[in-house]
Amino acid sequence: MADKEFDLVVIGGGPGGYAAAIRAAQLDLKVLLIDDRQGDDGKPAPGGTCLNVGCVPSKALLDSSKHYHHIRHDYSEHGINVDDVSMDVGKMIERKRSIVKQLNGGLMQLFKANKIEFANGRGKLLAERRVEVRPHDGDSFTAVGKHVMLAAGSVPFTIPNVEIDGKFIVDNEGVLEFDAVPARMGVIGAGVIGLEMGSVWSRLGAEVVLLEAMDELLGVVDQDLSRAAAREFKKQGLDIRLGAKVSAAEISDNQVKVSYTDKNGDHSESFDRLLVAVGRKAASNGLLAEDSGVELTDRGQVKVDEHCQTSVKNVWAIGDLVRGPMLAHKASEEGIAVVEALATGYGHFNLDTIPWVIYTDPEIAWVGKTEKELKDEGREYRSGSFPFAATGRGLAMGNATGHVKILADAEDDSLLGVQIIGANASELIAECVVAMEFHGTSEDLARIVHAHPTLSEAVHEAALAVDKRAIHKAN
Ligand code: FAD
Ligand code: AMP
Repeated sequence: MADKEFDLVVIGGGPGGYAAAIRAAQLDLKVLLIDDRQGDDGKPAPGGTCLNVGCVPSKALLDSSKHYHHIRHDYSEHGINVDDVSMDVGKMIERKRSIVKQLNGGLMQLFKANKIEFANGRGKLLAERRVEVRPHDGDSFTAVGKHVMLAAGSVPFTIPNVEIDGKFIVDNEGVLEFDAVPARMGVIGAGVIGLEMGSVWSRLGAEVVLLEAMDELLGVVDQDLSRAAAREFKKQGLDIRLGAKVSAAEISDNQVKVSYTDKNGDHSESFDRLLVAVGRKAASNGLLAEDSGVELTDRGQVKVDEHCQTSVKNVWAIGDLVRGPMLAHKASEEGIAVVEALATGYGHFNLDTIPWVIYTDPEIAWVGKTEKELKDEGREYRSGSFPFAATGRGLAMGNATGHVKILADAEDDSLLGVQIIGANASELIAECVVAMEFHGTSEDLARIVHAHPTLSEAVHEAALAVDKRAIHKAN
């Protein structure tokens, strides 16, 4: 059979690949999108890690567990007395599943509306921009693209001697499917996923112990934020053990026995369930034929230049498969920028203004550089911070933990970084990203009118504090 011809063939239907496919179709390109994921009903489940077993389901469970926790612990302060609160874990999981299914279906409709040809199966890049497509149902075929985009995403890292069985020892998929609250849950890795999922089950009543190999918590985060976060997590009962390197885990008598080493020697702990959340790696396995010509880095990521072009002309790679933060919005915007560049000659994507968010309580969000990075670079800066406890809205909400910190260049006042820990940090960071993307200064943020009473006033006041003129705190 002759090869099927397309302007663009995309392998991987996560937030990187599907957004790129939709944008390409909008620009009148003939697109084939290949994604192998299926739901438990056997239907295609586009949306990648993010929609199926990442961002979306984890946030659904974070929200459900937050409601439960607030009702049990915070409502009485508002004068609301609620008796006999109970948690139906099955219903919570079902709600999460139906949100995911709804969005899977929505994507399939979008593909149809945009006239994107969708293949539910595996894709493999061959030489000369040809792609072998093996649908789950139906015959294999070969597609050739004027351009090919690799958007295969990432898979969890594993560690030696800790085997995922999907029931007692789980990764990010299994932890979204527990049928009951474990009495005692262990988490290997106190990174973003470990902290978010540990929070979910801790709020629902599990005793949660996180074993983290590094000596500091959240090393990539600004130190003021990570210290504040550590204090809050401790108050919430999360038992975070730093410098604890796990070497093995074994299952016996419905328990998981975990062995780890810290500066005091060897230890072991028993848990009802164990989550392995030790990071993720590029899903480059099985993606490339030997003669595809696409080069990998020694970490297995696809090598790309600053335009996301691989070592083969007109073969592009984006998202978790390549360098840069493993974040859904990074993948989407990168994919869209590549498509716009190849269709119109220009695409915009700025790796320096990507917001990061950790959806714990309090939320942690930041953009740009941390204070440590600026110090290491020897850059002169001024900083201003403001606590939510000094905002009327924070107190009225009964959630005034945390602060905003703004870092600006000492000479020209350009914004270099913003770090927020507190309620709705995930939303508050957006204004700071816009300001940075427009090359704004702390003076710009200070002169913009912010509604009262809102949490965004803390951003405003932190900007004023850079110039030592905050109104609601001593400077
Ligand atoms: P993916 O989403 O991994 O999609 C790639 C798709 O390609 C997958 O469906 C895969 O099955 C398919 N595929 C791979 N190889 C082939 C092949 N050869 N043929 C056909 N199909 C193939 N990010 C955020 O920004 N915010 C969050 O809140 C957040 N929370 C997260 C929570 C968890 C628990 C996890 C695990 C991740 C989270 N992330 C979050 C990260 C986010 O999910 C990823 O950064 C994002 O999904 C990357 O998108 P992508 O398109 O590069 O790849
Ligand atoms: P993240 O990259 O945000 O998903 O975080 C993963 C975390 O797992 C990192 O903080 C790692 O230091 C940690 N980690 C990796 N391997 C181990 C291990 N064997 N024992 C404990 N923690 C680990």
